[in-house]
Amino acid sequence: MNKPIMSVYNRLPIEIIKGEGYYLFDSSGKKYIDFGTGIAVVSLGHNNSRINNALHQQIDLLWHCSNIFEIPLQKKLAQRLVEVSFADQVFFCSSGLEAVETAIKLIRKYQYNIGNRYKIVTFENGFHGRSITCLSAGGNEAAREGYGPFIDGFIRIPIDKEILLNTLDNNLVGGVLIEPVQSEGGVYPVPHDFLKLLREETKKRGILLCFDEVQTGFGRTGTLFKYQQIGIEPDIMTVAKAMGNGFPIAACLAKKEIADIFTPGSHGSTFGGNPLAMAVGNAVLDEIIDHNLLQNVSQISTYFFDKLCLLEQKFKTQIKAIRVDGLLIGIEIPGSAYHYMKLLINNGLIVTRAGNDKVIRILPPLTIDRNIVDEAISILEEVFKLEETK
Ligand SMILES: *Cc1c(COP(=O)(O)O)cnc(C)c1O
Repeated sequence: MNKPIMSVYNRLPIEIIKGEGYYLFDSSGKKYIDFGTGIAVVSLGHNNSRINNALHQQIDLLWHCSNIFEIPLQKKLAQRLVEVSFADQVFFCSSGLEAVETAIKLIRKYQYNIGNRYKIVTFENGFHGRSITCLSAGGNEAAREGYGPFIDGFIRIPIDKEILLNTLDNNLVGGVLIEPVQSEGGVYPVPHDFLKLLREETKKRGILLCFDEVQTGFGRTGTLFKYQQIGIEPDIMTVAKAMGNGFPIAACLAKKEIADIFTPGSHGSTFGGNPLAMAVGNAVLDEIIDHNLLQNVSQISTYFFDKLCLLEQKFKTQIKAIRVDGLLIGIEIPGSAYHYMKLLINNGLIVTRAGNDKVIRILPPLTIDRNIVDEAISILEEVFKLEETK
């Protein structure tokens, strides 16, 4: 029988039809704890009334008018993002890869004007999206297979100080693109001293530094943006996933002297910054700020980590490592993460996987409390126990 949807996803035979807070419900009425949040997207939980109200109101006013007009809610969100970050200017778009594409274009155009240093350094095991350009930048071989030839101008290196310094000395290098935590790659936080060195050495050489915070942005690691924990600032930053709590919104942020290279016609997006998206974006920011969610992330992260360490002691043969940065959590296992993911979901706990099927990745809403963590831990324990006796 013909399947009308292209088979790019391995789908579980579960129809999710409703969400409420940190729960999802399937068509049979079964309830799941959603610690996958649609891959770090629904950080404020499902059916959030403030965000819903903002969207409902905007639905009856105006959906779309294009960027040939002033869009008041877009100005408002841009102004707020500038106030809470290092950046001076914002470009809105609709997905992570578009934000990364924007950052790459910004780096290239900026450097083109002062000497065509078009090469951009990226990192092994990195992930930046699935367009041909983003795959050219990224380091996931499975995602790249069959799509070449790739775009010229990326130099991919391991996270290694000496190799970094040598590579930055190449006088064609004009930019560096890095995820401060490699999430798709298996939840590997990049050491802060590496990121500090990277900042120092790029600045010395006039090389632009872009942080891909598509997954770490909007509170996931305990500060609004991950760079804020390191004591450095990038020149450019990309954000997306949690920015709209499920509504497609993304952005590329930059310092003024860089963003000024863009002039009318340099770049664009039909849907980017449209009134519906901006109504949601403003409401998401309100929710994160008003509920002190960032403080909650740090506290609950420690609690979660301690509980996971107890599991690690109990199930030494099944848990190889636990890596946590805020509520970006990875459990490295020797077998297939997909196998565990299916068992956990059948037992009512939704998780995702990463790192080429070697890591169970947990991405809970930022709103969680200790009770729901305890519930999740007991489901994890059940599943590990079950596997232990096999
Ligand atoms: C998910 C992700 C992307 C791609 O975002 P899409 O919205 O799927 O295009 C890019 N970079 C990072 C770090 C991501 O986690």
